[in-house]
Formats: sequence, C-alpha cells, structure tokens
Amino acid sequence: MKQPVVRDFISERVRKVPPSGIRRFFDIAATMDNVISLGIGEPDFVTPRGILQAGIDSLQHGQTHYTSNSGTQELREALSDYIERLYGIHYDSEHELLVTVGVSEALYLALTAILDPGDEVIVPEPCYVAYAAEVAFAGGVPVTIPTHVEDGFQVRAETIERAITPRTKALLIGYPNNPTGAVMTRENLQAIADVADRHNLLVISDEIYDRLVYGIQHTQFATLKGARPRTIVLSGFSKSHAMTGWRIGYAAAPPELLDAMRKIHQYTIMSAPTTAQAAALEAVKSDADVNTMLEEYDRRRKLMVTGFNELGLSCFEPRGAFYTFPNITAAGMDENEFAERLLQEEQVAVVPGTAFGASGAGHVRACYATAYEKIEEALKRLQHFMQVHG
Ligand code: PLP
Repeated sequence: MKQPVVRDFISERVRKVPPSGIRRFFDIAATMDNVISLGIGEPDFVTPRGILQAGIDSLQHGQTHYTSNSGTQELREALSDYIERLYGIHYDSEHELLVTVGVSEALYLALTAILDPGDEVIVPEPCYVAYAAEVAFAGGVPVTIPTHVEDGFQVRAETIERAITPRTKALLIGYPNNPTGAVMTRENLQAIADVADRHNLLVISDEIYDRLVYGIQHTQFATLKGARPRTIVLSGFSKSHAMTGWRIGYAAAPPELLDAMRKIHQYTIMSAPTTAQAAALEAVKSDADVNTMLEEYDRRRKLMVTGFNELGLSCFEPRGAFYTFPNITAAGMDENEFAERLLQEEQVAVVPGTAFGASGAGHVRACYATAYEKIEEALKRLQHFMQVHG
C-alpha cells in the first residue's frame, strides 16, 4: 500500500500561515525552573467569587444543555443594558448581539462572514498574533501597516488610506492594543471612521481590553459619527473579568451582519458554553470586581514602566490593556536575542516584539498581569542583565 504524504492533505491556506511566535518562548520557559513569566497575556487573578458561584449554581441547577444559538435571552438582554450603560449606545438583544466562544470565535465569524477569496483586510501592526492568520484562514489577504512609538502606537488615518486598494473590504483594529498598550484618542478614531466611510469599508473593532484603561475613557468604535452601520464590535470577559478559561465573548453588529455571523456560529458551534453564559450574566451585573483588578494592574503598570525607563530601556506609557512594550536596543541586541538571553541567563520570559509584526522590531512585550512582587524580582534580574550587556 502506498504511504500518503500527509502534508499534501493540508490546505495551502493553512500551510502558508506560520506558527505563533509566542508559543516557542512558552515551550522553552516550561522546561526551566524559577522562571518569572512576563510572557503570557492573561490575568493572574482567579475569576471573582460571585461569577464563579453563578457558574457553579448553573451546573447544580442542571443547566447542562445547549442554549439558543444567539446565547440565552437573559444574557443578551443584560449585555444590551451593559453596553448601553458603558457607552450610551443601544444594541437590540434579539437582532444585534451574539454570544460567542470568546472574542476568538467572534473574530473568526466576522471574517468568515465578510470575506471572499482575495479580499483584503488592513491590519495595523504590532497587533494580536491571530489577526493576520485569521484573515488568511478566512480566505482573505491581510495587508499590514505599521504604527510607531512616536505616535504612541496609534494608527494614522492617512496610513490606512494609502493602503486601500480596489480589493480592500475591511479594517481590523484592536485598541486598547495588544502588545503595545496603546489607546486611540477619540479624534484619531473619528478620522479612521471617516476614511472607512469615504472608501466604503467595514470596520472590525476588537475591544476586548475596553474595561482595562488607566485614567482615560474608552471610545467604543460604533459610537463615532457615521460608524455604527459599518462596524462589528467584539468584546468579552476573558481579560476584564479574569475569565480566559470560560471562553465567552460577544459580537455587536447591524442585524444583517449579525445574521451572517450567526449562520456560521449555528453550524459550527451551536451555542457558547452554557455554564460560561450563566457566569457572564453575573459578570455584567457587577463593576466592583473589574475596578479592584484594574487598580492593582495600574499599580503594577507604574512599577514596570518606571522600572524599564530607569534601566535605560525606554518605555512608552501604555494607557490600556496589561502590557508594556519597551525599546530594548540599549542592550545592544535585537528583540529575539534579548528575549532568548534574558530567559536563559536570568529566567525572565518576555516576547520579542516582532512576534506581533515587523514594526515591533527593537521592542519586547512584557505583561504586568502577574504579582507585584514577581515584577519587582523580574526588574532586579533585568538590572543584572543590563549590567552585563548594557
Ligand atoms: N483579542 C485580543 C487583542 C487578545 O489579546 C486576545 C487574547 O489574548 C483575544 C482577542 C482572544 O480573546 P478570547 O479569550 O476572548 O478569545
């Protein structure tokens, strides 16, 4: 019998996409002792007690079945109130909201719903590692554009405009940003909404870090002038409510777009996890837990930014999410060598900036969703590292 070449069964579309640059560091770190990881982008907190209990109660009440495809009506109604309370914009719980398996699924649905083969999506970088890959999986072509520290890593409307071609269908942005911690001013976002309007583009706005902003207001993209009919907003509970493992998120979009996304969700997922939906219902009702975690993140943010700057690793002040993105060129090496040596020599894990796109060169991502004392220890080790190399 003939042995098949298994690789040949795998689609060109999937083969073309490189594996995530983040994983490699986690794999190395996992084999070492005494590592302080500033690498992983997830809260160190356990899900707040009230939310946990709501999930447990749901199980104990025998809620172990599928829910409506869109998510439970109770959760969608509560979500509609939640979004209105936060941003003053109303989404109809029946036709404009979909509960998903994290923002990850919502992003997959949005891209799959809109892209025909060869359609281009403009993606500002550095950005979340999944964006370009998901565009490619959905049959589209990611067109990446750079952002720069001089602009506080905000994307310029004119850079977007220059990247538009007759094949451009959408723009995919994520602010507050992973990995830079950048947030956009309302004015700069409005300039982007105006470009989308002029060129008839759809905007997918990944706002998973919307609740994690420091001393400023988050602008929800659909609240911009003229933006709502061409915007899909994605958000969820993974980061704000320390619920990464529950796998729960949502999409808010105009009814026709939401219908298309629901159709894919119906056939591929059926419904988001029932237990997680019960827990999310509790999460949207209480702001106290989010605020407590936010205060602690802010303390750590200040420690880390000050720490990097004092070591000569110039660090732009992030105003959102839980990442810092220091420039490491003062260490006399590139971001890959820096991350590798720091891990081998000092057992501190960070992620090379280029894992998030070419414009992340010369930077690393360090996450402060880890205990204050661990960050203090990591900074001591970094000080030693810079004494040796700086
Ligand atoms: N979007 C961004 C910008 C992220 O950083 C992440 C996770 O790191 C996700 C989406 C995925 O979120 P979820 O856990 O809701 O699938």
